[in-house]
Amino acid sequence: MTETTASAALETLSRVFGYDSFRGDQAEVIDHVIGGGDAVVLMPTGAGKSLCYQVPSLVRHGTGVVVSPLIALMHDQVEAMKAVGVKAAFLNSTQDPTERAGVERDYLAGELDLLYVAPERLSSESTKRFLESGDIALFAIDEAHCVSQWGHDFRPDYLALAELAERWPDVPRIALTATATEATHKEITQRLSMGEAKHFVASFDRPNIQYRIDPKVEVRKQLLSFIRSEHSGDAGIVYAMSRNTVEKTAQFLAANGVDAMPYHAGLDSRLRAQTQARFLRDEGVVIVATIAFGMGIDKPDVRFVAHIDLPKSVEGYYQETGRAGRDGLPSTAWMAYGLNDVVQQRRMIDESPGDLAHRRRLSAHLDAMLALCETVSCRRQNLLGYFGQKSEPCGNCDTCLTPPESWDGTVAAQKLLSTVVRLERERNQRFGAGHLVDILRGKRTERVGQWKHDELSTWGIGTELSEQQWRGVVRQLLAQGLLAVNDDGYGTLVITADSAAVLSGSRAVQLRKEAERVATRGGSGSG
Ligand code: ADP
Ligand code: ZN
Repeated sequence: MTETTASAALETLSRVFGYDSFRGDQAEVIDHVIGGGDAVVLMPTGAGKSLCYQVPSLVRHGTGVVVSPLIALMHDQVEAMKAVGVKAAFLNSTQDPTERAGVERDYLAGELDLLYVAPERLSSESTKRFLESGDIALFAIDEAHCVSQWGHDFRPDYLALAELAERWPDVPRIALTATATEATHKEITQRLSMGEAKHFVASFDRPNIQYRIDPKVEVRKQLLSFIRSEHSGDAGIVYAMSRNTVEKTAQFLAANGVDAMPYHAGLDSRLRAQTQARFLRDEGVVIVATIAFGMGIDKPDVRFVAHIDLPKSVEGYYQETGRAGRDGLPSTAWMAYGLNDVVQQRRMIDESPGDLAHRRRLSAHLDAMLALCETVSCRRQNLLGYFGQKSEPCGNCDTCLTPPESWDGTVAAQKLLSTVVRLERERNQRFGAGHLVDILRGKRTERVGQWKHDELSTWGIGTELSEQQWRGVVRQLLAQGLLAVNDDGYGTLVITADSAAVLSGSRAVQLRKEAERVATRGGSGSG
Protein backbone atom coordinates (compact mmCIF):
# COMPACT_ATOMS: atom_id res chain seq x y z
CA MET A 1 0.00 0.00 0.00
CA THR A 2 1.10 3.52 -0.62
CA GLU A 3 0.50 6.74 1.19
CA THR A 4 -1.45 8.11 -1.74
CA THR A 5 -3.99 5.28 -1.82
CA ALA A 6 -4.39 5.57 1.94
CA SER A 7 -5.02 9.28 1.77
CA ALA A 8 -7.32 8.92 -1.25
CA ALA A 9 -9.35 6.40 0.74
CA LEU A 10 -9.54 8.64 3.78
CA GLU A 11 -10.44 11.64 1.65
CA THR A 12 -13.28 9.65 0.04
CA LEU A 13 -14.46 8.45 3.43
CA SER A 14 -14.89 11.94 4.77
CA ARG A 15 -16.03 13.69 1.59
CA VAL A 16 -18.61 11.13 0.52
CA PHE A 17 -19.63 9.34 3.70
CA GLY A 18 -18.93 12.02 6.26
CA TYR A 19 -16.87 9.81 8.59
CA ASP A 20 -13.46 10.79 9.85
CA SER A 21 -11.76 7.47 10.46
CA PHE A 22 -11.88 3.84 9.47
CA ARG A 23 -12.86 1.12 11.90
CA GLY A 24 -11.19 -2.18 12.60
CA ASP A 25 -9.71 -3.75 9.48
CA GLN A 26 -11.46 -1.39 7.07
CA ALA A 27 -8.39 0.70 6.22
CA GLU A 28 -6.23 -2.34 5.53
CA VAL A 29 -8.86 -4.09 3.45
CA ILE A 30 -9.51 -0.95 1.43
CA ASP A 31 -5.84 -0.27 0.76
CA HIS A 32 -5.29 -3.85 -0.28
CA VAL A 33 -8.19 -3.81 -2.75
CA ILE A 34 -7.33 -0.37 -4.13
CA GLY A 35 -3.87 -1.79 -4.80
CA GLY A 36 -5.45 -4.53 -6.92
CA GLY A 37 -5.36 -7.41 -4.41
CA ASP A 38 -8.09 -9.95 -3.73
CA ALA A 39 -9.60 -10.06 -0.24
CA VAL A 40 -11.76 -12.38 1.83
CA VAL A 41 -13.44 -10.42 4.61
CA LEU A 42 -15.17 -11.99 7.60
CA MET A 43 -16.72 -9.35 9.82
CA PRO A 44 -19.76 -9.49 12.06
CA THR A 45 -22.94 -7.65 11.13
CA GLY A 46 -22.66 -3.95 11.73
CA ALA A 47 -18.87 -3.88 11.52
CA GLY A 48 -18.97 -1.93 8.28
CA LYS A 49 -18.38 -4.31 5.40
CA SER A 50 -20.03 -2.12 2.79
CA LEU A 51 -17.39 0.59 2.93
CA CYS A 52 -14.76 -2.08 2.22
CA TYR A 53 -15.94 -2.24 -1.39
CA GLN A 54 -17.66 1.11 -1.74
CA VAL A 55 -14.57 3.18 -1.06
CA PRO A 56 -12.28 1.21 -3.43
CA SER A 57 -14.99 1.37 -6.11
CA LEU A 58 -14.88 5.15 -5.86
CA VAL A 59 -11.10 5.43 -5.73
CA ARG A 60 -10.31 2.97 -8.50
CA HIS A 61 -10.96 3.67 -12.13
CA GLY A 62 -14.18 2.09 -13.45
CA THR A 63 -17.32 0.65 -11.89
CA GLY A 64 -17.46 -1.54 -8.78
CA VAL A 65 -19.66 -4.54 -9.59
CA VAL A 66 -21.42 -5.78 -6.46
CA VAL A 67 -22.93 -9.25 -6.45
CA SER A 68 -25.69 -9.54 -3.88
CA PRO A 69 -28.43 -12.15 -3.41
CA LEU A 70 -30.71 -9.70 -1.66
CA ILE A 71 -32.63 -8.51 -4.69
CA ALA A 72 -35.34 -6.98 -2.54
CA LEU A 73 -32.74 -4.68 -0.97
CA MET A 74 -30.94 -3.54 -4.10
CA HIS A 75 -33.28 -0.68 -4.68
CA ASP A 76 -32.77 0.64 -1.12
CA GLN A 77 -29.02 0.17 -1.30
CA VAL A 78 -28.82 2.09 -4.54
CA GLU A 79 -31.04 4.89 -3.20
CA ALA A 80 -28.82 5.15 -0.12
CA MET A 81 -25.76 5.50 -2.34
CA LYS A 82 -27.41 8.09 -4.56
CA ALA A 83 -28.39 10.06 -1.47
CA VAL A 84 -24.73 10.66 -0.69
CA GLY A 85 -23.92 11.48 -4.29
CA VAL A 86 -22.54 8.14 -5.46
CA LYS A 87 -23.56 7.13 -8.97
CA ALA A 88 -25.14 3.73 -8.38
CA ALA A 89 -27.56 1.43 -10.21
CA PHE A 90 -28.68 -2.19 -10.21
CA LEU A 91 -29.49 -4.96 -12.64
CA ASN A 92 -31.98 -7.62 -11.61
CA SER A 93 -35.10 -9.43 -12.73
CA THR A 94 -37.50 -6.85 -11.29
CA GLN A 95 -36.62 -4.25 -13.91
CA ASP A 96 -38.43 -3.48 -17.13
CA PRO A 97 -36.42 -3.36 -20.39
CA THR A 98 -36.26 0.44 -20.66
CA GLU A 99 -34.99 0.76 -17.13
CA ARG A 100 -32.36 -1.87 -17.80
CA ALA A 101 -31.30 -0.25 -21.06
CA GLY A 102 -30.75 3.01 -19.20
CA VAL A 103 -28.52 1.33 -16.62
CA GLU A 104 -26.57 -0.45 -19.33
CA ARG A 105 -26.02 2.78 -21.21
CA ASP A 106 -24.71 4.52 -18.07
CA TYR A 107 -22.37 1.66 -17.32
CA LEU A 108 -20.90 1.56 -20.84
CA ALA A 109 -20.45 5.34 -20.77
CA GLY A 110 -18.35 4.91 -17.62
CA GLU A 111 -20.82 6.90 -15.57
CA LEU A 112 -21.41 4.46 -12.74
CA ASP A 113 -19.39 4.12 -9.54
CA LEU A 114 -21.33 1.08 -8.36
CA LEU A 115 -23.44 -1.51 -10.14
CA TYR A 116 -25.36 -4.06 -8.04
CA VAL A 117 -26.01 -7.30 -9.89
CA ALA A 118 -28.07 -10.34 -8.91
CA PRO A 119 -25.99 -13.54 -8.99
CA GLU A 120 -28.18 -15.27 -11.57
CA ARG A 121 -27.47 -12.41 -13.98
CA LEU A 122 -23.77 -13.07 -13.75
CA SER A 123 -24.13 -16.68 -14.76
CA SER A 124 -25.43 -15.61 -18.15
CA GLU A 125 -22.96 -15.19 -20.96
CA SER A 126 -24.67 -12.10 -22.35
CA THR A 127 -24.29 -10.25 -19.03
CA LYS A 128 -20.63 -11.14 -18.88
CA ARG A 129 -20.05 -9.96 -22.41
CA PHE A 130 -21.86 -6.76 -21.59
CA LEU A 131 -19.71 -6.18 -18.50
CA GLU A 132 -16.61 -6.82 -20.57
CA SER A 133 -17.45 -3.86 -22.76
CA GLY A 134 -17.05 -1.48 -19.84
CA ASP A 135 -14.44 -0.78 -17.17
CA ILE A 136 -14.65 -2.76 -13.95
CA ALA A 137 -13.01 -1.36 -10.83
CA LEU A 138 -13.57 -4.50 -8.76
CA PHE A 139 -15.97 -7.33 -8.04
CA ALA A 140 -17.52 -7.42 -4.59
CA ILE A 141 -19.18 -10.69 -3.63
CA ASP A 142 -21.51 -9.93 -0.75
CA GLU A 143 -22.97 -12.66 1.49
CA ALA A 144 -20.16 -14.88 0.23
CA HIS A 145 -21.21 -17.76 2.51
CA CYS A 146 -23.98 -18.42 -0.03
CA VAL A 147 -21.37 -20.28 -2.10
CA SER A 148 -21.03 -22.92 0.61
CA GLN A 149 -23.02 -26.06 0.02
CA TRP A 150 -22.63 -26.98 3.66
CA GLY A 151 -23.67 -23.61 4.96
CA HIS A 152 -27.17 -22.63 5.92
CA ASP A 153 -27.92 -20.41 2.96
CA PHE A 154 -26.58 -22.08 -0.19
CA ARG A 155 -27.42 -20.43 -3.51
CA PRO A 156 -26.46 -22.44 -6.61
CA ASP A 157 -25.96 -19.27 -8.66
CA TYR A 158 -22.96 -18.43 -6.51
CA LEU A 159 -21.02 -21.37 -7.90
CA ALA A 160 -20.80 -19.62 -11.26
CA LEU A 161 -18.88 -16.77 -9.63
CA ALA A 162 -15.73 -18.89 -9.72
CA GLU A 163 -15.46 -17.91 -13.35
CA LEU A 164 -14.87 -14.24 -12.55
CA ALA A 165 -11.25 -14.99 -11.70
CA GLU A 166 -10.54 -16.62 -15.06
CA ARG A 167 -12.37 -14.10 -17.11
CA TRP A 168 -11.10 -11.01 -15.34
CA PRO A 169 -7.72 -12.00 -13.88
CA ASP A 170 -6.68 -8.38 -13.42
CA VAL A 171 -9.79 -7.17 -11.63
CA PRO A 172 -9.54 -7.40 -7.82
CA ARG A 173 -12.25 -9.37 -6.06
CA ILE A 174 -13.46 -8.96 -2.52
CA ALA A 175 -15.69 -11.59 -0.87
CA LEU A 176 -17.54 -10.58 2.28
CA THR A 177 -19.64 -12.36 4.87
CA ALA A 178 -20.85 -11.94 8.43
CA THR A 179 -21.23 -15.63 9.04
CA ALA A 180 -18.66 -18.28 8.36
CA THR A 181 -17.46 -21.28 10.27
CA GLU A 182 -13.92 -22.39 9.51
CA ALA A 183 -15.27 -24.93 7.05
CA THR A 184 -17.34 -22.31 5.25
CA HIS A 185 -14.37 -19.96 5.16
CA LYS A 186 -12.33 -22.65 3.42
CA GLU A 187 -15.13 -23.34 1.00
CA ILE A 188 -15.45 -19.66 0.10
CA THR A 189 -11.71 -19.49 -0.59
CA GLN A 190 -11.76 -22.57 -2.73
CA ARG A 191 -14.97 -22.14 -4.66
CA LEU A 192 -14.40 -18.48 -5.44
CA SER A 193 -10.77 -19.17 -6.45
CA MET A 194 -9.47 -16.89 -3.72
CA GLY A 195 -6.20 -18.77 -3.36
CA GLU A 196 -4.12 -15.62 -3.69
CA ALA A 197 -6.38 -13.46 -1.58
CA LYS A 198 -5.52 -11.80 1.69
CA HIS A 199 -7.80 -12.82 4.52
CA PHE A 200 -9.22 -10.41 7.05
CA VAL A 201 -10.99 -12.13 9.92
CA ALA A 202 -12.42 -9.83 12.56
CA SER A 203 -13.48 -11.03 15.95
CA PHE A 204 -17.06 -12.22 15.81
CA ASP A 205 -17.68 -11.18 19.35
CA ARG A 206 -20.41 -8.65 20.01
CA PRO A 207 -19.63 -7.90 23.64
CA ASN A 208 -22.55 -5.52 24.12
CA ILE A 209 -25.08 -8.25 23.34
CA GLN A 210 -26.21 -10.31 26.31
CA TYR A 211 -27.21 -13.83 25.26
CA ARG A 212 -29.94 -15.62 27.19
CA ILE A 213 -31.94 -18.76 26.56
CA ASP A 214 -34.90 -19.82 28.71
CA PRO A 215 -37.03 -22.93 28.66
CA LYS A 216 -40.33 -22.28 26.92
CA VAL A 217 -43.32 -22.45 29.21
CA GLU A 218 -45.96 -19.91 28.19
CA VAL A 219 -43.98 -18.21 25.56
CA ARG A 220 -46.11 -15.15 24.86
CA LYS A 221 -46.34 -14.26 28.52
CA GLN A 222 -42.62 -14.86 28.95
CA LEU A 223 -41.95 -12.56 26.01
CA LEU A 224 -44.24 -9.86 27.36
CA SER A 225 -42.67 -9.96 30.78
CA PHE A 226 -39.19 -9.85 29.23
CA ILE A 227 -40.12 -6.75 27.22
CA ARG A 228 -41.92 -5.06 30.12
CA SER A 229 -39.27 -5.62 32.71
CA GLU A 230 -36.20 -4.93 30.59
CA HIS A 231 -37.07 -3.26 27.31
CA SER A 232 -40.18 -1.19 27.81
CA GLY A 233 -40.30 1.43 25.04
CA ASP A 234 -37.32 -0.03 23.20
CA ALA A 235 -37.09 -1.02 19.56
CA GLY A 236 -36.79 -4.75 19.05
CA ILE A 237 -37.31 -7.66 16.71
CA VAL A 238 -39.13 -10.85 17.66
CA TYR A 239 -38.53 -13.83 15.39
CA ALA A 240 -41.00 -16.68 14.99
CA MET A 241 -41.19 -19.56 12.52
CA SER A 242 -44.71 -19.30 11.16
CA ARG A 243 -46.86 -16.50 9.86
CA ASN A 244 -49.61 -17.58 12.20
CA THR A 245 -47.39 -17.25 15.28
CA VAL A 246 -46.17 -13.89 13.99
CA GLU A 247 -49.73 -12.56 13.66
CA LYS A 248 -50.91 -13.87 17.00
CA THR A 249 -47.87 -12.70 18.91
CA ALA A 250 -48.03 -9.23 17.40
CA GLN A 251 -51.72 -9.00 18.37
CA PHE A 252 -51.02 -10.21 21.87
CA LEU A 253 -48.22 -7.70 22.40
CA ALA A 254 -50.27 -4.85 20.93
CA ALA A 255 -53.22 -5.73 23.17
CA ASN A 256 -50.84 -5.49 26.10
CA GLY A 257 -49.54 -2.04 25.31
CA VAL A 258 -46.46 -2.87 23.25
CA ASP A 259 -46.15 -0.96 19.96
CA ALA A 260 -45.85 -4.18 17.96
CA MET A 261 -46.45 -4.93 14.30
CA PRO A 262 -46.33 -8.16 12.28
CA TYR A 263 -44.05 -8.66 9.27
CA HIS A 264 -43.97 -11.68 7.00
CA ALA A 265 -43.91 -12.58 3.31
CA GLY A 266 -47.68 -13.12 3.22
CA LEU A 267 -48.42 -9.47 3.85
CA ASP A 268 -49.00 -6.97 1.08
CA SER A 269 -45.72 -5.45 -0.06
CA ARG A 270 -46.92 -1.89 0.52
CA LEU A 271 -47.86 -2.72 4.07
CA ARG A 272 -44.49 -4.36 4.60
CA ALA A 273 -42.69 -1.29 3.31
CA GLN A 274 -44.75 0.90 5.67
CA THR A 275 -44.00 -1.34 8.62
CA GLN A 276 -40.30 -1.27 7.86
CA ALA A 277 -40.35 2.50 7.44
CA ARG A 278 -42.10 2.94 10.81
CA PHE A 279 -39.56 0.68 12.49
CA LEU A 280 -36.71 2.77 11.11
CA ARG A 281 -38.31 6.14 11.75
CA ASP A 282 -40.23 5.88 15.03
CA GLU A 283 -38.89 4.99 18.42
CA GLY A 284 -39.76 1.89 20.35
CA VAL A 285 -41.41 -0.13 17.59
CA VAL A 286 -41.31 -3.90 18.01
CA ILE A 287 -41.51 -5.99 14.86
CA VAL A 288 -42.70 -9.57 15.11
CA ALA A 289 -41.37 -11.29 12.02
CA THR A 290 -40.43 -14.41 10.21
CA ILE A 291 -36.76 -14.53 9.21
CA ALA A 292 -37.61 -12.48 6.12
CA PHE A 293 -37.24 -9.33 8.18
CA GLY A 294 -34.02 -7.54 9.02
CA MET A 295 -31.61 -8.42 6.23
CA GLY A 296 -29.84 -5.26 5.23
CA ILE A 297 -31.81 -3.07 7.61
CA ASP A 298 -29.46 -0.61 9.18
CA LYS A 299 -31.05 0.48 12.45
CA PRO A 300 -28.35 1.03 15.03
CA ASP A 301 -30.50 1.18 18.17
CA VAL A 302 -32.35 -2.15 18.07
CA ARG A 303 -32.19 -2.96 21.80
CA PHE A 304 -33.31 -6.57 21.72
CA VAL A 305 -33.80 -9.53 19.45
CA ALA A 306 -36.06 -12.28 20.76
CA HIS A 307 -36.54 -15.76 19.33
CA ILE A 308 -39.76 -17.44 20.36
CA ASP A 309 -39.06 -20.46 18.16
CA LEU A 310 -35.79 -22.32 17.85
CA PRO A 311 -33.72 -21.03 14.90
CA LYS A 312 -32.65 -23.67 12.39
CA SER A 313 -28.92 -23.05 12.67
CA VAL A 314 -26.34 -21.28 14.81
CA GLU A 315 -25.37 -19.22 11.76
CA GLY A 316 -28.95 -18.01 11.39
CA TYR A 317 -29.23 -17.30 15.11
CA TYR A 318 -25.98 -15.37 15.12
CA GLN A 319 -26.99 -13.32 12.10
CA GLU A 320 -30.40 -12.50 13.55
CA THR A 321 -29.18 -11.64 17.04
CA GLY A 322 -26.49 -9.52 15.37
CA ARG A 323 -29.17 -7.03 14.39
CA ALA A 324 -29.31 -5.90 18.01
CA GLY A 325 -27.03 -3.19 19.34
CA ARG A 326 -25.14 -2.10 16.26
CA ASP A 327 -24.55 1.17 18.10
CA GLY A 328 -22.46 -0.69 20.65
CA LEU A 329 -24.83 -0.03 23.55
CA PRO A 330 -26.08 -2.84 25.84
CA SER A 331 -28.63 -5.06 24.12
CA THR A 332 -30.25 -8.41 24.71
CA ALA A 333 -30.61 -11.56 22.63
CA TRP A 334 -33.30 -13.56 24.38
CA MET A 335 -34.68 -16.91 23.31
CA ALA A 336 -37.26 -19.33 24.62
CA TYR A 337 -37.09 -22.87 23.40
CA GLY A 338 -38.87 -26.07 24.28
CA LEU A 339 -39.20 -29.71 23.54
CA ASN A 340 -41.79 -29.11 20.85
CA ASP A 341 -39.31 -27.03 18.89
CA VAL A 342 -36.98 -30.00 18.70
CA VAL A 343 -39.72 -32.44 17.75
CA GLN A 344 -41.15 -30.10 15.15
CA GLN A 345 -37.80 -29.37 13.55
CA ARG A 346 -36.86 -33.03 13.41
CA ARG A 347 -40.12 -33.65 11.63
CA MET A 348 -39.47 -30.85 9.18
CA ILE A 349 -36.05 -32.27 8.45
CA ASP A 350 -37.42 -35.76 7.89
CA GLU A 351 -40.05 -34.41 5.56
CA SER A 352 -37.80 -31.99 3.74
CA PRO A 353 -37.24 -32.56 0.05
CA GLY A 354 -33.71 -33.27 -1.05
CA ASP A 355 -31.31 -36.12 -0.61
CA LEU A 356 -29.93 -37.79 2.48
CA ALA A 357 -26.86 -35.55 2.51
CA HIS A 358 -29.12 -32.53 2.62
CA ARG A 359 -31.08 -33.90 5.59
CA ARG A 360 -27.86 -34.77 7.39
CA ARG A 361 -26.70 -31.22 6.93
CA LEU A 362 -29.94 -29.82 8.36
CA SER A 363 -29.63 -32.28 11.20
CA ALA A 364 -26.08 -31.18 12.00
CA HIS A 365 -27.25 -27.56 12.06
CA LEU A 366 -30.01 -28.45 14.50
CA ASP A 367 -27.62 -30.41 16.72
CA ALA A 368 -25.26 -27.44 16.97
CA MET A 369 -28.20 -25.21 17.87
CA LEU A 370 -29.32 -27.62 20.61
CA ALA A 371 -25.81 -27.79 21.99
CA LEU A 372 -25.86 -24.00 22.35
CA CYS A 373 -29.24 -24.11 24.09
CA GLU A 374 -28.28 -26.80 26.56
CA THR A 375 -24.71 -25.79 27.33
CA VAL A 376 -23.79 -25.36 30.99
CA SER A 377 -20.85 -23.13 30.10
CA CYS A 378 -20.68 -19.67 28.59
CA ARG A 379 -23.05 -19.13 25.66
CA ARG A 380 -20.69 -16.68 23.97
CA GLN A 381 -17.82 -19.13 24.22
CA ASN A 382 -19.96 -21.77 22.60
CA LEU A 383 -21.10 -19.36 19.88
CA LEU A 384 -17.65 -18.03 19.08
CA GLY A 385 -16.23 -21.54 19.26
CA TYR A 386 -18.69 -22.53 16.58
CA PHE A 387 -17.12 -19.91 14.33
CA GLY A 388 -13.65 -21.18 15.18
CA GLN A 389 -12.74 -18.40 17.64
CA LYS A 390 -11.42 -19.12 21.10
CA SER A 391 -12.52 -16.99 24.03
CA GLU A 392 -12.84 -16.81 27.80
CA PRO A 393 -16.16 -16.97 29.69
CA CYS A 394 -17.78 -13.62 28.96
CA GLY A 395 -19.54 -12.58 32.15
CA ASN A 396 -22.43 -11.25 30.08
CA CYS A 397 -24.66 -14.20 29.25
CA ASP A 398 -27.17 -16.09 31.36
CA THR A 399 -24.89 -19.01 32.12
CA CYS A 400 -22.08 -16.69 33.23
CA LEU A 401 -24.40 -14.46 35.26
CA THR A 402 -26.35 -17.28 36.90
CA PRO A 403 -24.28 -20.43 36.45
CA PRO A 404 -26.75 -23.25 36.04
CA GLU A 405 -26.46 -25.84 38.73
CA SER A 406 -26.02 -29.23 37.31
CA TRP A 407 -27.36 -32.40 38.83
CA ASP A 408 -26.70 -36.07 38.38
CA GLY A 409 -29.46 -37.07 36.00
CA THR A 410 -28.25 -40.62 35.48
CA VAL A 411 -31.11 -42.28 37.34
CA ALA A 412 -33.73 -40.05 35.72
CA ALA A 413 -32.24 -40.80 32.31
CA GLN A 414 -32.29 -44.52 33.05
CA LYS A 415 -35.94 -44.37 34.08
CA LEU A 416 -36.89 -42.57 30.91
CA LEU A 417 -34.76 -44.66 28.57
CA SER A 418 -35.89 -47.94 30.06
CA THR A 419 -39.53 -46.89 29.60
CA VAL A 420 -38.77 -46.27 25.94
CA VAL A 421 -36.99 -49.62 25.66
CA ARG A 422 -39.74 -51.56 27.44
CA LEU A 423 -42.51 -50.13 25.30
CA GLU A 424 -40.52 -50.95 22.22
CA ARG A 425 -39.34 -54.45 23.18
CA GLU A 426 -42.35 -55.71 25.15
CA ARG A 427 -45.13 -54.05 23.23
CA ASN A 428 -43.63 -52.88 19.98
CA GLN A 429 -44.89 -49.36 20.71
CA ARG A 430 -43.43 -45.90 20.42
CA PHE A 431 -44.67 -42.71 22.02
CA GLY A 432 -43.90 -39.02 22.23
CA ALA A 433 -42.58 -37.19 25.27
CA GLY A 434 -45.98 -36.29 26.74
CA HIS A 435 -47.16 -39.85 27.19
CA LEU A 436 -43.78 -41.09 28.41
CA VAL A 437 -43.82 -38.45 31.12
CA ASP A 438 -47.38 -39.45 32.07
CA ILE A 439 -46.21 -43.04 32.53
CA LEU A 440 -43.22 -42.01 34.65
CA ARG A 441 -45.36 -39.75 36.80
CA GLY A 442 -48.11 -42.34 37.08
CA LYS A 443 -50.80 -40.14 35.60
CA ARG A 444 -54.00 -42.02 34.79
CA THR A 445 -54.93 -40.72 31.39
CA GLU A 446 -57.29 -42.27 28.90
CA ARG A 447 -54.38 -43.45 26.85
CA VAL A 448 -52.72 -45.09 29.85
CA GLY A 449 -55.93 -47.03 30.48
CA GLN A 450 -56.35 -47.95 26.85
CA TRP A 451 -52.85 -49.43 26.60
CA LYS A 452 -52.68 -50.72 30.17
CA HIS A 453 -49.47 -48.83 30.68
CA ASP A 454 -50.06 -48.85 34.44
CA GLU A 455 -48.87 -52.43 34.25
CA LEU A 456 -45.42 -51.43 33.02
CA SER A 457 -42.65 -51.82 35.58
CA THR A 458 -41.69 -48.17 35.08
CA TRP A 459 -45.22 -46.94 35.84
CA GLY A 460 -45.12 -44.13 38.39
CA ILE A 461 -41.42 -44.42 39.20
CA GLY A 462 -40.71 -40.78 38.35
CA THR A 463 -42.88 -38.76 40.74
CA GLU A 464 -39.83 -36.96 42.15
CA LEU A 465 -39.74 -34.67 39.12
CA SER A 466 -42.48 -32.35 37.86
CA GLU A 467 -43.86 -32.65 34.38
CA GLN A 468 -41.86 -29.63 33.31
CA GLN A 469 -38.68 -31.03 34.80
CA TRP A 470 -39.20 -34.26 32.92
CA ARG A 471 -39.64 -32.34 29.69
CA GLY A 472 -36.32 -30.67 30.47
CA VAL A 473 -34.75 -34.10 30.92
CA VAL A 474 -36.11 -35.25 27.55
CA ARG A 475 -34.84 -32.10 25.84
CA GLN A 476 -31.39 -32.44 27.28
CA LEU A 477 -31.14 -36.12 26.44
CA LEU A 478 -32.08 -35.20 22.88
CA ALA A 479 -29.40 -32.52 22.82
CA GLN A 480 -26.84 -34.96 24.19
CA GLY A 481 -27.72 -37.56 21.58
CA LEU A 482 -28.91 -40.06 24.20
CA LEU A 483 -32.43 -40.02 22.84
CA ALA A 484 -33.70 -39.35 19.33
CA VAL A 485 -36.88 -38.33 17.60
CA ASN A 486 -37.99 -41.16 15.37
CA ASP A 487 -38.43 -40.38 11.68
CA ASP A 488 -42.05 -41.58 11.56
CA GLY A 489 -43.34 -38.01 11.50
CA TYR A 490 -45.20 -38.41 14.83
CA GLY A 491 -42.46 -37.15 17.12
CA THR A 492 -42.10 -40.49 18.90
CA LEU A 493 -38.89 -41.06 20.81
CA VAL A 494 -36.34 -43.83 20.35
CA ILE A 495 -33.05 -44.71 21.98
CA THR A 496 -29.70 -44.18 20.24
CA ALA A 497 -26.47 -46.14 20.00
CA ASP A 498 -25.17 -44.17 23.00
CA SER A 499 -28.16 -44.91 25.22
CA ALA A 500 -26.97 -48.40 26.06
CA ALA A 501 -24.06 -47.16 28.18
CA VAL A 502 -26.47 -45.08 30.27
CA LEU A 503 -28.87 -47.98 30.74
CA SER A 504 -26.07 -50.31 31.78
CA GLY A 505 -24.80 -47.76 34.29
CA SER A 506 -21.41 -47.32 32.67
CA ARG A 507 -22.10 -43.74 31.65
CA ALA A 508 -23.25 -40.95 33.95
CA VAL A 509 -25.49 -38.13 32.74
CA GLN A 510 -25.09 -34.56 33.93
CA LEU A 511 -28.10 -32.31 33.43
CA ARG A 512 -28.68 -28.63 34.03
CA LYS A 513 -31.22 -27.45 36.57
CA GLU A 514 -33.57 -24.98 35.08
CA ALA A 515 -37.28 -24.90 35.84
CA GLU A 516 -37.25 -22.18 38.50
CA ARG A 517 -35.25 -19.81 36.32
CA VAL A 518 -38.39 -18.91 34.43
CA ALA A 519 -40.52 -18.28 37.46
CA THR A 520 -38.07 -15.93 39.12
CA ARG A 521 -37.66 -13.65 36.15
CA GLY A 522 -40.15 -10.87 35.58
CA GLY A 523 -43.10 -12.16 37.56
CA SER A 524 -45.98 -13.18 35.29
CA GLY A 525 -45.67 -15.86 32.71
CA SER A 526 -44.35 -18.74 34.70
CA GLY A 527 -46.19 -21.99 34.47
P1 ADP B 1 -22.23 -4.62 7.71
O1 ADP B 1 -22.49 -4.69 6.22
O2 ADP B 1 -20.89 -5.13 8.09
O3 ADP B 1 -23.33 -5.24 8.52
P2 ADP B 1 -22.55 -1.84 7.28
O4 ADP B 1 -21.62 -1.72 6.15
O5 ADP B 1 -24.01 -1.84 6.97
O6 ADP B 1 -22.22 -3.12 8.14
O7 ADP B 1 -22.23 -0.70 8.33
C1 ADP B 1 -22.93 -0.61 9.54
C2 ADP B 1 -23.06 0.83 9.96
O8 ADP B 1 -21.81 1.34 10.39
C3 ADP B 1 -23.51 1.74 8.83
O9 ADP B 1 -24.44 2.66 9.36
C4 ADP B 1 -22.25 2.43 8.38
O10 ADP B 1 -22.51 3.66 7.79
C5 ADP B 1 -21.50 2.55 9.70
N1 ADP B 1 -20.04 2.63 9.49
C6 ADP B 1 -19.29 1.76 8.80
N2 ADP B 1 -17.99 2.13 8.84
C7 ADP B 1 -17.92 3.27 9.55
C8 ADP B 1 -16.85 4.16 9.95
N3 ADP B 1 -15.60 3.93 9.60
N4 ADP B 1 -17.17 5.22 10.70
C9 ADP B 1 -18.45 5.46 11.06
N5 ADP B 1 -19.48 4.67 10.73
C10 ADP B 1 -19.25 3.60 9.98
ZN1 ZN C 1 -20.85 -15.96 29.07
